Amino acid sequence: ERVQAAEKTYTIAMDTTFPPFEFADKNNKRVGIDIDLIRAIAKAEGFKVQLKATSFNGAVQELQANQVDGVMAGMSITPERKKVFAFSDPYYQSGVVMAVAKKGHITKLSQLRGKRVAVKTGTASADYANSSKKKYGFKTVTFDDSNNVYQDVISGNSAACFEDKPVMQYAIATGLGLKLGNMKMAMANDYGIAVSKSNPELVKKINAGLKKVRKSGEYTKIVEKYLGNGS
Ligand code: GLN
Repeated sequence: ERVQAAEKTYTIAMDTTFPPFEFADKNNKRVGIDIDLIRAIAKAEGFKVQLKATSFNGAVQELQANQVDGVMAGMSITPERKKVFAFSDPYYQSGVVMAVAKKGHITKLSQLRGKRVAVKTGTASADYANSSKKKYGFKTVTFDDSNNVYQDVISGNSAACFEDKPVMQYAIATGLGLKLGNMKMAMANDYGIAVSKSNPELVKKINAGLKKVRKSGEYTKIVEKYLGNGS
């Protein structure tokens, strides 16, 4: 008689407010592309996932401290992060854009001199802001959550924010009082799932599962569920 090994459970940390990748719906249920995708991958590969919502920066730090097995949070694969973590194959294309108040007169980088720009702690957008603030003469203010970043611009405390393109587009399309600024997308990157370098087995499983859910059409179904057919 063959006995099946118990399914292994991996804890995956995520961001709190990062729609359409992870967010709380009307019923306060946590939903999003990342959540559906990691569950589909786990199902395809026969492992279980325990999801843990925290701040993006908190998730990254928890992985670094080996308190979780992975981070899936619309996390950009960057050369610096690759020095610290192992990454799955890419699963979504992104990059940094600028957003400004819907009714304001500020639309471009050259208008930010002497102003405040809001970004989220530890993100690619924060890196972009820090690398361009000298050139454009703005100051940065950081928040742990994307929603607080947007609200700082809506309230007029900050003149602009930087955020991932698909996330900003989704927020604007679903009624947030911001609009895209006049800036070319910067720091083009791919999202990947980060795992400890000491866990190549998990990276392998995730990549195998990702291949399966792409092939089965499930990946496309998940993305279309949140973004519609036009995505
Ligand atoms: N993609 C960005 C990064 O990895 C932002 C991620 C996030 O805010 N959840 O830095």
